[in-house]
Amino acid sequence: MHDTLSDPAQLAPGWRWDNSFAALGSDFYTPMATQPIAQPYVVGHSASAQSLIGLPAHALQSELWQHILAGNQVPSGAQPLSTVYSGHQFGVWAGQLGDGRAALLGEMAPPPEHNGVAHEIQLKGAGLTPYSRMGDGRAVLRSSIREFLCSEAMHGLGIPTTRALCVMGSDHPVYREQPETAAVVTRLAPTFIRFGHFEHFSHHDLHAQLRQLADFVIDRFYPQCRADTRLNGNAYANFLQAVTERTAAMVAQWQAVGFCHGVMNTDNMSILGLTIDYGPFQFLDAFYPGHICNHSDNQGRYAFYKQPNVAYWNLYCLGQALLPLIEDQELTIAALETYKTSYPQAQDACMAAKLGFPAVQEGQRDLADNVLRLLAADRVDYSIFWRRLSHWVNNRDDSAGVKDDSVRDLFLDRAGIDAWLLQYSERITQTRRGLAADLMLKTNPKYVLRNHLGELAIRAAKNKNFSVVAQLLRALEHPFDEQPELESFADFPPDWASGISISCSS
Ligand code: AMP
Ligand code: MG
Repeated sequence: MHDTLSDPAQLAPGWRWDNSFAALGSDFYTPMATQPIAQPYVVGHSASAQSLIGLPAHALQSELWQHILAGNQVPSGAQPLSTVYSGHQFGVWAGQLGDGRAALLGEMAPPPEHNGVAHEIQLKGAGLTPYSRMGDGRAVLRSSIREFLCSEAMHGLGIPTTRALCVMGSDHPVYREQPETAAVVTRLAPTFIRFGHFEHFSHHDLHAQLRQLADFVIDRFYPQCRADTRLNGNAYANFLQAVTERTAAMVAQWQAVGFCHGVMNTDNMSILGLTIDYGPFQFLDAFYPGHICNHSDNQGRYAFYKQPNVAYWNLYCLGQALLPLIEDQELTIAALETYKTSYPQAQDACMAAKLGFPAVQEGQRDLADNVLRLLAADRVDYSIFWRRLSHWVNNRDDSAGVKDDSVRDLFLDRAGIDAWLLQYSERITQTRRGLAADLMLKTNPKYVLRNHLGELAIRAAKNKNFSVVAQLLRALEHPFDEQPELESFADFPPDWASGISISCSS
């Protein structure tokens, strides 16, 4: 350590650690010591995530901060800990899991002038924890780059997500199917509490702790549930309903953008309805509803089209866990059943925007279903289709007789797409064309984190070239903008993309 600064407060005046999770008490976590990695280096960092917690722009250039974010040095005021949770994995009760490789440093309350929101700071891959079970507490470079880029990509897309501040790499060896190197991702979220935290205390009949956890989350993140008069004014039932609604909204956004999570176990479901735990995720290339992105998912439990139902199943697990607090089965079911209206509503709203409609239209579901069927039949590239359709609407000028075949060229079934485009164009009248195209170009991204793009960044990073990570981040932070110098990231996937195999190994 050559840094002359010994305390982060000197680097970022006004910075203050809060340890509100730690204040819950020792039933909820175990204190831990992070395990250092030798000579860490910055693989990628997000200025936008950094500003979220009011960390000065130059902080990551400091050796001190690099060591803090690699888990090599604990900043004063932080209390590293790993939280305990349980959960259902692939449809079966898996028992106790917990943060097997994540250290919660505490919560960062930025100085008021930074307008930042308090966020928990978690180092993923910072070494063994009391919950590591058979694992080594580490994360490899490839999966850390994917998590980092995807967190920031989802934020760029406007989809609720945990954030990622940086990836610190090291030559420290880590053994998976072959030798790899270690990395640490700094993740940020208002809280990392998962459905599995509630399942843990409920399963063990620790009802006092269950209530304490629910009260903590309600008071901080769902205070309106205390005053809600629906569901007999039962705050816990209203809490379950609010989580149900947020989860429905999140999954509807996943489906609309073609995001496949890959491991929707209940321990990977955020109580805030944030996308969390980026592992074998994938943005669809060709549209195929049955797509399974996780090589380890032999049964296809988490296939793309199943995600909305899996979320509902997971919410039932949460409902079961909260039953001792709600104390009424009917109310619990009533809260969960709102999924049946909130999901379709959220889905309709997403599809309306994709189609350029300012509000949900009569007959819109048929229109959307019909085009998805055509996309699936011809395995058309999902993101490119929607982006081209947005430009097609923009370019269409009946009076000028402009001919734009860019959409129909994507399909083998020309008659099918011609008929659909005719049906669709009747709804986009000449006067509404500009507004519709505007909305579509802000809804249908040009840049998504396709597997092969992540792979390009990873290959370069393994050779200590971190420029692709930075370029990709730039594209993904503004996924709706034309960025001519980054055009190649908006292309069709190359042939080798279909050979990429992503599993739970991370
Ligand atoms: P995931 O499938 O990544 O959500 O992880 C499921 C569980 O395994 C969680 O409790 C993780 O903390 C734990 N885990 C995953 N990988 C490791 C690892 N390399 N070392 C320790 N625990 C791990
Ligand atoms: Mg997980």
